[in-house]
Parts: sequence; structure tokens; C-alpha cells
Amino acid sequence: MSERVIGYIEGGVVIDHIPLGRVWEIIHLLGIDKIKSLGRISVGDGFESNQMGKKGILKIEGISLSEYQLNLIALIAENVTVSIVSKGQIVNKIKTKIPNILKNVIYCNNVNCISNDPKEKIVPLIEYYLEKGFCCHYCNKFFKKDKLRFV
Ligand SMILES: [Zn+2]
Repeated sequence: MSERVIGYIEGGVVIDHIPLGRVWEIIHLLGIDKIKSLGRISVGDGFESNQMGKKGILKIEGISLSEYQLNLIALIAENVTVSIVSKGQIVNKIKTKIPNILKNVIYCNNVNCISNDPKEKIVPLIEYYLEKGFCCHYCNKFFKKDKLRFV
């Protein structure tokens, strides 16, 4: 149903079931806002969803994203659906999972961490563990998924 609500794409990526209001964070995470030579991009938000009330959906034409980039989407929500489209048909559905190493993606949650000192100009480096959550490479402090601040 939602496939028809916003634009058709010939080839590219469809990201569906995005939590309401968070579609822009995905655009930023994937760096789509910085790429100039893309095809059609449809950004939808506030669409009805049987599963989740309201949702966002993103369709990006003429792009292929790395597995790492696609996995970054799991930082926004684990039940987001990522489909690869070729010749107007879905050819693959990807199950995203949070990458083990996040370099320059999210900040350490510890305000006193050296990586949060602008004078040091340190690139944030965070490790992810399924059970324990996120851990900063510099201060070794753990934090949870609901505390993420994106770079
Ligand atoms: Zn830290």
C-alpha cells in the first residue's frame, strides 16, 4: 500500500517502517544530504501504518549503499525494513543490525570524555555489544541505545 503513496523508483533503496519523525536522521546518517548525483528521492513521514500507527518512508533512486551504511539504520530502529530495488522490483530485503564498530557516527555519552573535548579534535570511536550496549573506545564507559547523539 505505502509503495504507491509516494514515488516509484526504478532502482535503488526503499527504507520503510521508520519511526515517526526520524526519517531525517536516516538521511543524515547515510550521507544522502551530501551526495549530489542521485536520482529521485522521496521522503515521506506521518503515513498510516498497521504495525506502528504512523511511520516514515524513504525512497532513494540511483544509489547503492554499503552493508555498513545499511546497518547504521539499525541505530534508529531495529524493525526498519530495507529493500533493494532493481528494474522496479524488490530484489532483496536486508535485515539490518548495529555495526560492532562505529567510527564518527555517534558521540560518547560521557560529557567528561576526551573525545567530547572540541580542543582535542578526536574522532568518536564507539564499540557495540549486543547485551551491554555501546562502549566508548577512549573512556570505556557504557551507554544505552536511547542515549544516542549522532555526529
Ligand atoms: Zn568516552
